[in-house]
Parts: sequence; C-alpha cells; structure tokens
Amino acid sequence: MHGAAEADVDALVAEYQDLYDVVPELRAGAARRESLRYGARIELGLRSFLEGNGSAAFTTSFEDLGALRQLPGLAVQRLMAAGYGFGAEGDWKTAILVRAAKVMGAGLPGGASLMEDYTYHLEPGSEKILGAHMLEVCPSLTATRPRLEIHPLGIGGKEDPVRLVFDADASPGVVVALSDMRDRFRLVANAVDVVPLDQPLPNLPVARALWEPKPDFATSAAAWLTAGAAHHTVLSTQVGMDVFEDFAEIAKTELLTIDEGTTIRQFKKDLNWNAAYYKLAGGI
Ligand code: MN
Repeated sequence: MHGAAEADVDALVAEYQDLYDVVPELRAGAARRESLRYGARIELGLRSFLEGNGSAAFTTSFEDLGALRQLPGLAVQRLMAAGYGFGAEGDWKTAILVRAAKVMGAGLPGGASLMEDYTYHLEPGSEKILGAHMLEVCPSLTATRPRLEIHPLGIGGKEDPVRLVFDADASPGVVVALSDMRDRFRLVANAVDVVPLDQPLPNLPVARALWEPKPDFATSAAAWLTAGAAHHTVLSTQVGMDVFEDFAEIAKTELLTIDEGTTIRQFKKDLNWNAAYYKLAGGI
C-alpha cells in the first residue's frame, strides 16, 4: 500500500470521479482529499495482495487494522464489484459464499454482496428488513451512480473512512447464510423481494438494501432462527433459489430453503429429517 506510485493513486482517484458522484469535501483541492487518496492506496494495496496470492476472496476485521488509518470501505466495495468474495470481521464462510454467488451470477443483470440484517421495520403488515454493513456493500446491487462520501465511524477507532453510498435496486433476490454445524456445513436460503426505500435515510451513511422476506416476516424470522442461520449473508439479485439448490447439490452441502411455500411446521420436520439424514449418510 505504501509502495503504490503517486501516479497510480492519481489514476485511481480519476476513475472514482468518472464513476461516482464525489462529495465536494473529497474533490481536488478540498479539505479531505487526502482521505480519498488514502482510500485509493488501500485499494491498490489490497488488489496487488490478492493478485499476488491468487486469492478470489478475503476478509478484514475492524479489530485488527494494524497500521491502516481507515477501515477498508470503498476498496472492499470495489473489489467485490470486481468479483472478489468478501466477509467482514474475519468471516471466511461468507467470503466464500459471496465469491460463489459472484461466479454463478457472472454476466447476469443484478449483483451480489455481503449483507447483514441491520435493522427491522416492524410495521404490522408491512414488515421489512434493512440490510447494510459498516461500509462493505457491493455497488453491483445498483445500476444507479453511487455517491462517494466520507463520514465518521465510531467502531475501530480509526480515521473517517471513505465509502460508496447507494440504495440497492428493487428486484427479486435470495439471501443465503452458511453455518458451521461442526459435522457439516448448512446453507439457509430465503427468497426475498428487494423493494424501494419508503423514505430517504439521510442518517444512515452507508449503502443499503431493503427487502421483504418470503413467505412473510414472522415465518422467515422463525425459520431462520430455528435453523441457526448466520448474521452475515450474501444477497444475490443475479440468481435465484434454483441456482442455490444446484450449488448445494454440487457442493454436497445441506440446504434449507425459506420461500413462498414455507410453513414452520414443515420447516421443523425438514430440520429433523436432515439431522437424521446427515448422520445416516455419513455411514452409508
Ligand atoms: Mn458484520
């Protein structure tokens, strides 16, 4: 990162200006321009590290930033957009899942990103899930032009990080988690509809997606928790449940699906049957 040439930083910052609406404070000659150039250095360093190691996915952790002055935000977002898998807080399972979703969705409309249930909209009859993260949401989830902004980040105790801010485009999608069951891995996939924001979210300065889970919020939440599904997920709007069903079969991995036809009564039976199957199948 520190070895990156000034000319390479210049070129990358020029690319940011072509692709994104850069807030005035980050523009050439403005007070916080150096923070943007530092963000570009993080991207150059991470990208050369990944290429040098032949890596297709990676993680970071806000608790272990070493000499980095900013939590990697913009860099992670752009590397995900380039096809790398990413999991936050050292979450290698979600990094793999994001990479798999990127490969399966390559060339299709829509995108795939690390996601996290950030907060819930619990208006009766209109329940929704707001997905976001500290910074790291992939801009492949929108066809609109993201804003490139800088804001404080309390967590991690570092300088204010630069990040892309946008709303994910409305689309059918699937939210998938990978859990370690110790004797096997388990995928849990929820079919969702990504929907437009009901109103702007000026106090949430990160990229975000708002979705309605199928078959409904209460059933989805109960099934998700009963399955021990994870806090981090991949959201794909490029591929649907059928593709993840194929993926689970090819990867010989348990898959529990939550979709239009899910009932808790049946879902609990699926869990019990799967528990028995994976014990028996190991011995056959
Ligand atoms: Mn997280």
